[in-house]
Amino acid sequence: MLFQPTHRPVICAERASCVKCEQVEIVNTLPVAVIAKIVDEVALSVVITDHQGIIRYANRHATSVTDLPQQRQVNETDPLLDELLIGEQNKAIILSSLIKQKRWQFDQKIVLHDDTTQWERVSMSAISDDEGKLCHIVIYRHDITEERNSLEQLFYNSRHDRLTKLVNKDFCIEQLQKSLATFSSDNCNIALLVLDIDNFHVINEAHGYSIGDQLLKDIAARLTTQLPTAKLIGRLSGDKFILLFNGVNALYSVLDNIETIQRIFNREFEFTDRSILTSVCIGVSLSSGGSDAIQLLRDADSAVHHAKASGKNSYVIFNEQLKHGVLRSSQIEVAMRSAISNNELAVYFQPIVDSHSGQIVCAEALLRWHNPALGWISPAEFIPIAEQSGQIVKLGNWVLEQVCQQVAQWRQLALPLYACVNVSAVQLIEHYQFYATFMALLERYDLTSADLELEVTESLMLDNDERHAETLQQLIAAQCRFAIDDFGTGFSSLKTLSQFEFHKLKIDKSFIQNVLTSKRDRSVTQAIAQIAKTLDMQITAEGVETDEMLQFCKSLECDFIQGFLFYKPMTAKALFALLQQQASMLETNEAR
Ligand code: C2E
Ligand code: MG
Ligand code: MG
Repeated sequence: MLFQPTHRPVICAERASCVKCEQVEIVNTLPVAVIAKIVDEVALSVVITDHQGIIRYANRHATSVTDLPQQRQVNETDPLLDELLIGEQNKAIILSSLIKQKRWQFDQKIVLHDDTTQWERVSMSAISDDEGKLCHIVIYRHDITEERNSLEQLFYNSRHDRLTKLVNKDFCIEQLQKSLATFSSDNCNIALLVLDIDNFHVINEAHGYSIGDQLLKDIAARLTTQLPTAKLIGRLSGDKFILLFNGVNALYSVLDNIETIQRIFNREFEFTDRSILTSVCIGVSLSSGGSDAIQLLRDADSAVHHAKASGKNSYVIFNEQLKHGVLRSSQIEVAMRSAISNNELAVYFQPIVDSHSGQIVCAEALLRWHNPALGWISPAEFIPIAEQSGQIVKLGNWVLEQVCQQVAQWRQLALPLYACVNVSAVQLIEHYQFYATFMALLERYDLTSADLELEVTESLMLDNDERHAETLQQLIAAQCRFAIDDFGTGFSSLKTLSQFEFHKLKIDKSFIQNVLTSKRDRSVTQAIAQIAKTLDMQITAEGVETDEMLQFCKSLECDFIQGFLFYKPMTAKALFALLQQQASMLETNEAR
């Protein structure tokens, strides 16, 4: 094998002390044959050509790779250079840039004889003679398939969901942005659909997480194969999917796709030992360009929330009315941030009476908010917004403090009633914090856990969040009393109801108000009262407005009555005056 180094290093005058020269000398002291042997043995392909691209040397690695489509043979043109140097003009450009830059590197994918592919990194170095003319080209190649594969895997992972292999949220937004930019000039529409599986957490609970995961994978597969017109199908998060349709010129084609999607979900999903039927809610936002991708996604998301509120298997197309609702929600959210510091909030109290004696036994604290720009805002409207935005923790703590202050006043005057406070499930998630805050407040106002009753809703039980269960256990262990509020309106879970020691059950006002007109509601109310009795819980009937309702509640043996028939919510001051008046009436009666 021939090896002719053409370039001898020039030795400088300071050779004795020059580090660079010392190194050159070590190399130069090696016989050429040894250097040739080393180059021959290295584990990368080394080919040296003359300035024409004719191979003058190829090391063992270069000639032993037999599965390369074209072999490197000494005295033949290097196949790669041959390809690159086609045409005089091309040749001149490449060679001159190689001489200028000395080194040129690129990665290429090659197909081997067995049709597999391999990535190789090719580096070319130009060797010039003493006059600066190109005399040799050294080409090194090495296999970087593994490196490229792991890079490609990393790239794939960053854009795909691991479970379903669908594209992920980030990639979807990127694509949506591109589509919006492309379609903005045309007369074409873009339809963005957000899909949210109905009661997916119930499926997870009932069948286990591995079935839940498999179901998500099966759904992804069905969507992919059965919606060929979708430009993009991705997984947004948990049980939410996102679909993008381009060029949708009329609403009917969106409706067409919605029908297909509903059919996809409504057909049974088969597993080895069971089959599962699902349904889905769909939120749609439409754009004919000019919209912002994030806004479009937000609109579809709020449409799916509205769809969920109207029941399973439903869809909502985002429109102006919804937009108005979203706008109002964001106005409320912003105004809420300064509601406490602007003194816009007040806690009202609605007295609750003993069903036999009619005496006030406790009072429910109900938050009231008046904003100068928005007017009176109902808690039924702002509490869910506070929960979604996380502001409920701050509001809830503020309410707790106001209530503790009030109860401390009642205690000073020995008024025999306790307060009921609504606590949102979101507040209880931060369990240690809630427990600590609550206990610290009781201590600060010299109260005991018997002075307050906490009202939680059924949704808390439905969440089945371990943190909720822990908080409840912790508070129950500290002798705190709990009432289940609005019972019957959510997904009543008897299992969780019996799992914790709730003291009281509040029958929701929607039942009480229908008991006289609806046989069905009457039966449900009777059944709820029966459950409470069986579990040894006290009962409060909420929303009692008429004598007839009161008589019905008494027939159910309800212990307490809350409703406009007795008292409406009132300011703390008004309640205080009422209590004092009742106390003095009682004293006068006793004196007689
Ligand atoms: P809730 O806890 O079920 O409170 C009872 C609701 O029923 C109150 O509505 C009360 O004014 C109303 N009500 C009572 N008796 C009658 C009646 O005879 N007829 C009618 N039509 N209504 C009656 P409000 O004050 O509008 O509160 C609505 C909901 O907002 C509450 O329902 C509660 O879930 C929530 N909320 C209120 N204040 C707070 C709070 O401080 N924290 C939290 N987390 N939620 C609160
Ligand atoms: Mg309540
Ligand atoms: Mg209630």
